[in-house]
Amino acid sequence: MNRTLNSPTTDTEMHPDSGDVDEIAVPVRGKATRPAAAVAELSNEILRSLPPEVLVRLRPQLRSIKLVVGQVLYEPGDDVDHVYFPESGLISLVTPMRNGQDVENTSRGRDGGIGYVEACGSEMMVSRAVVHIEGRAWCLAACDYREVYESSGAMRNLIQRRTEILLADARQGSACRAVHPASGRLGRTLLECYHHTGELRLPLTQEFLAGMIGVGRTTVTHAAGRLQHLKLIRYTRGVVVITDVEGLKRHVCECYEVLRDVRRSILERRPRSASH
Ligand SMILES: [Zn+2]
Repeated sequence: MNRTLNSPTTDTEMHPDSGDVDEIAVPVRGKATRPAAAVAELSNEILRSLPPEVLVRLRPQLRSIKLVVGQVLYEPGDDVDHVYFPESGLISLVTPMRNGQDVENTSRGRDGGIGYVEACGSEMMVSRAVVHIEGRAWCLAACDYREVYESSGAMRNLIQRRTEILLADARQGSACRAVHPASGRLGRTLLECYHHTGELRLPLTQEFLAGMIGVGRTTVTHAAGRLQHLKLIRYTRGVVVITDVEGLKRHVCECYEVLRDVRRSILERRPRSASH
C-alpha cells in the first residue's frame, strides 16, 4: 500500500509522490466567525449538527485539505492524531486480512467522519482509512478536537449518538449479508454511497463493491447486471451511474429504510433523563 498521508501538517508527508503538492497541501485555516456563518459554509453533516457555541470554538482549528484517490489517512494500529470531516468524496475503511486480501467494510462521506470516535477513546485506528473518491475534507488536530469534546456535554452526547448509529449500521449490515440477496444489498450500498457523496455518478471498483456487500466479483457483475436491466443504474467498468433513485429505493432490501429510520430516531430522540 502506498501510504500517502497520515499527518497533514507538512507538504511532503501529505503527498510525497505527487507533482500536485500545492493544491493538496496548502491548508485553508478557518476564520473565527459567528455561528450562522460558521454553519453556512460547511457541508459535513456532523459539523453542521454541532451546537453553535461548539462550532464557533472548532471553526478556527479546521483546515481544508484535498482528498486524493489512494491516499491513506490511517493504517490499523496508527495513533489518531487528526480528525477528518469530508465535505465531498468518499473514504473507505478497509480490513487487511492475514492472507494479504483487503476487504472494504464501510465508507464515510460528507455525512460522517474519520477518527472522531477514536480520538475521544483509545486514540487508535483499527482499520485502514483510504480515499476511494476524490474530494475535500476539513481536518483538525485530535488534541484540539478532544479539548472541545471534553468541555461540552452537548458535543459528547452528539458523538455518543453517532457512535450508536455506527454500531446499528454494523449490526444491520451483518444481518443483511446473512439473509438478503446480492442485488438488494448492492442497491443499498449504492444508495448509501449516493448519500455519502451527493453524487449520482460513482467511480466504485468491483473490489470495493464486492467487499461492501460480502460477495465475489462475479456476483457483483451479475447483481449490477440485474439492476441495469431494470434501468435503475448504468454500470461500466469502474463507474456506476444511478439513473433512477426512487426506483432503486423500491428495489433495495429493507435494511436501507430500517437504517434511515434508526438513524433519524437516534439523532432526534430526547433523552428521558432530560425530562426529570
Ligand atoms: Zn439488507
